[in-house]
Amino acid sequence: MIDHLAGFLAPWVITVAVVILHLVLPARYVTGYAREADTGAPLTYRINGILVFCASIVVWLALGYHDLVPYDWLWGQRWNSTLGACVLGLIATVYALSRGVRRHSPALADFWLGRLENPRFFGNRVDAKMILYLVGAVILELNLLSFAMHHITHYANSPSLGVGLYVLLFSWFIVDYLFFEQVHLYTYDLFAERIGFKLVWGCLVFYPYFYIIGLWAVADLPNPHSQTWLLSLAVLVFFCGWLLARGANMQKHSFKVRPGKKFLGLIEPKTVTDGNRSLLCSGFWGISRHINYLGEVLMAVGLTLALGYPWLFLPWLYPLYYIIFLVTRERDDDKRCAGKYGALWDEYRKVVPWRIIPRVY
Ligand code: NDP
Repeated sequence: MIDHLAGFLAPWVITVAVVILHLVLPARYVTGYAREADTGAPLTYRINGILVFCASIVVWLALGYHDLVPYDWLWGQRWNSTLGACVLGLIATVYALSRGVRRHSPALADFWLGRLENPRFFGNRVDAKMILYLVGAVILELNLLSFAMHHITHYANSPSLGVGLYVLLFSWFIVDYLFFEQVHLYTYDLFAERIGFKLVWGCLVFYPYFYIIGLWAVADLPNPHSQTWLLSLAVLVFFCGWLLARGANMQKHSFKVRPGKKFLGLIEPKTVTDGNRSLLCSGFWGISRHINYLGEVLMAVGLTLALGYPWLFLPWLYPLYYIIFLVTRERDDDKRCAGKYGALWDEYRKVVPWRIIPRVY
């Protein structure tokens, strides 16, 4: 019973720990892209995600080393912990709603999309969106390590190489996000979304628990003895995806921060412009209007292949989710940009006709 309760409370405890680490560890102050609702001034963020992440792993290692929390404990408590995260996500959403004024009718739309734009706490030292993403990333990594430890101890004689590869690639994905945390200040969630169930529950539940559905499904299965070609293919697909997503995000960030500068000293920032505003149409942004989304899907496919059970359905839910989520998001973003840029967006659509996959979609 005590263990069940502890499992339920695990995401709550990790959340508090992450907030404390975020507050006490040194941080950089970075100007973001989202703007203050009242003054229109760009918001400033305290950024130290990578430090918080490393400190969390050290704490996890120390707790396991001293037998205080077994390394595979989160695996044993995965259902209780998921339930705890769901309740936490619900409470946090209701709290955020209670602090904002009604925007939509019916109220359910407010619940889903949120009311507050960029709430901050502790004298502006903690930004709600950035801390939610950070908490999600830390819980995701701890789940990943714990699920893998379960597999390794359960199949000590013949653990799956694919599980190890999956942990490495997924950790790369998480560390990459945190390493380039400031680039993500320029993403849609940060400047266009509000704090509702979609974002809060997404960060606290969906991201740390659903994203590793593949490992969830195979951690208890024996070593599939994957052939080298399958593991190599997984790595290749994953890193092709990473190149597209990271490359596009970095190029856009570089363009927004220093519009005239060549990206990586190589790619000229060609644009379509109406004299006041410009849209990039060279490099990654000339291939399709959201080549970064294709990159995310490829990374998800690479991760799924790495597990070595390509015939199992459950691990494919992860790439499938990305396809549905990003196709919808591209449509939303397209509408937003059409509204914001008007005729310039139409011109951009003509120059770069593909939404996500060049010559296909
Ligand atoms: P984008 O990075 O594509 O950002 C879209 C915004 O960029 C537009 O609203 C517009 O905003 C600006 N923009 C669009 N086209 C151009 C252009 N040609 N030139 C200049 N500016 C342009 O999308 P997201 O913010 O959705 O995604 C960012 C990254 O995060 C992606 O790699 C995505 O895949 C990833 N992501 C990952 C998730 C995950 O769970 N792993 C979840 C969601 C996203 P404006 O004009 O106002 O600047």
